[in-house]
Formats: sequence, C-alpha cells, structure tokens
Amino acid sequence: MPEAHAGDVAMVDPMRRHAAWLLWLAVVLLCAACAPTRIMGPQLPVTWSPSPNYGDRRPAFIILHHTGSTTFASALKTLTSASAGVSAHYLIDRTGALHQLVDERHRAWHAGDARWGGDSDLNSASIGIELVNAGDEPFPSPQIDTLLALLQDLVSRYRLPTQNILGHGDVAPRRKVDPNRLFPWAQLAQRGFGLWCSPEAQRSSALVADPVLALQAIGYDTSDPRAAWTAWRRHFRSEASTLLPAQPTPEAGDAATLFDADDRRLIACLLERLPGTQRSATTARRPPPSGP
Ligand SMILES: [Zn+2]
Repeated sequence: MPEAHAGDVAMVDPMRRHAAWLLWLAVVLLCAACAPTRIMGPQLPVTWSPSPNYGDRRPAFIILHHTGSTTFASALKTLTSASAGVSAHYLIDRTGALHQLVDERHRAWHAGDARWGGDSDLNSASIGIELVNAGDEPFPSPQIDTLLALLQDLVSRYRLPTQNILGHGDVAPRRKVDPNRLFPWAQLAQRGFGLWCSPEAQRSSALVADPVLALQAIGYDTSDPRAAWTAWRRHFRSEASTLLPAQPTPEAGDAATLFDADDRRLIACLLERLPGTQRSATTARRPPPSGP
C-alpha cells in the first residue's frame, strides 16, 4: 500500500474540511429556515396564542435632517457604524442617489431627545431622512427631487398628515439646527408637503395674541421660548432667521416680545391651516386700523 506523501495529506485534508464546512452550512441554513420568528414578550410565564389580526407599525412623522458631513462617504460611515450609535431610514446624496439604511418597520436612531406636541419618542413614531449637507450650503435640485419623490411615496403609503413633515430643529429646538435655513420648505409646500402659509394668505391673517402658546399648539416644545422661536423662524421665516439677535432668553412673561408683527401674522395663518387646532387656545385679534 503506497504510503501517502506528506504533500498528498496536505491536499486531502483541506478538501475534507471544505466538504464538512459545506455540510455544516447546509444544516444551519435548513435550521434557520424552519426556526420560529423571534417573539418579543414579557419576562413572565405566558402562553403564546397568536392572532392573525395585526400589521406593521405605521410611522406618524417624517423628520428631515442634514448630515453635517462634507462627503457622502463620511455620512454613510457614521450612520452605519455601530460605535456611532446613530442612523436614519434614508440617506440622500447631493447627486440625488437614495440609500436605505434601516427597514421602515424598525426604529432608527435619528431624533434623539426630541418632542412634538404630546409625543416625546419621535424615533418610535417617525421615518428619518438624512440629506448630505455640510450644514451651511444650499440643497441641490437632484437631492430635493429625490426627497420629493420619497415623500410622495411615504405619504401615500402611510397616509401621513402633511403637517407631520418636520425638521430635526423643529422637534429638538434647544439642540439641533437641521435642516439648515437654506432648506426649501416652500418648495416642499408647493407639492403639498408640510404646514405652510403663502405670503398672500398671510396678509389677510390676524395677529395672534399669544405666540408662544400658538407655537405650542402647532407642536413646538416651548419650555425654552427663544429656542422655539428660533427654530420656528428657521423653518417658516428663513429670510428673517439670519437677523436673530444674540440675547438671553427673556423671562417667561416677556417671551412674546420676541415675536414681531410678521411673526404673529404668519403664526395665525399657520394655525388656520392646522387641522383640529383649538383656536380658542390662541385668541387672535386684528391689528388696529391705524397701527404700525
Ligand atoms: Zn438631525
């Protein structure tokens, strides 16, 4: 019986190991195919009696961001790095290329400590969309075109109220300023996305009497009135947001002094377009005929 050369052993063993590995892989795949789906439940004795009557969770909000990154590659690296601990459902490059990072049924980590109306867990209730943008630059047309197409798709699938399309700065006014003041909210509004009021409509609106309470009715967290006012202006009066005076937040009773007549008129106009708004919460009044 010929003695196998050392070189033959070296040839045979890897082949056997490869065959064994293939067999193991096949068993694992077969087991995975027949394994039950992982069920989330209490750490208590419980009987699993499944019902067929359920569906995936439905997001109620869309939160828009800018990445603050110079390049798409750096943004993608951050949003997909386990150590960074942040993500979004979608990332749109300046070119308009659309990338999905998280299944819409899952909770992406994009909003952080945020609040809108009575909702303080925006991550659970929203779809997060990141736009590649260094933070102080305009948003190119191809990027906005893709965003508009994505919004159309999301709004039609989830039947989202249009006023629930918000910026990160809106829901976290003390911490965030994105998307920046150059974001084209008016262009979105022309396509029916987001709460908005045209300049023509503003002219016929009253002046809202309590603008802080009115911002709260719209959804803003007004615990810091200056932060809420700053966020609101960035979104709805971006042309005026560069003129923000650097002053300390006024005492609660004086917070309304932040708002000029155009602010008050625009807020009243927005309230008129907000479905279900309790108008009694903000007593509006017309300006005096001879007033400034
Ligand atoms: Zn953000």
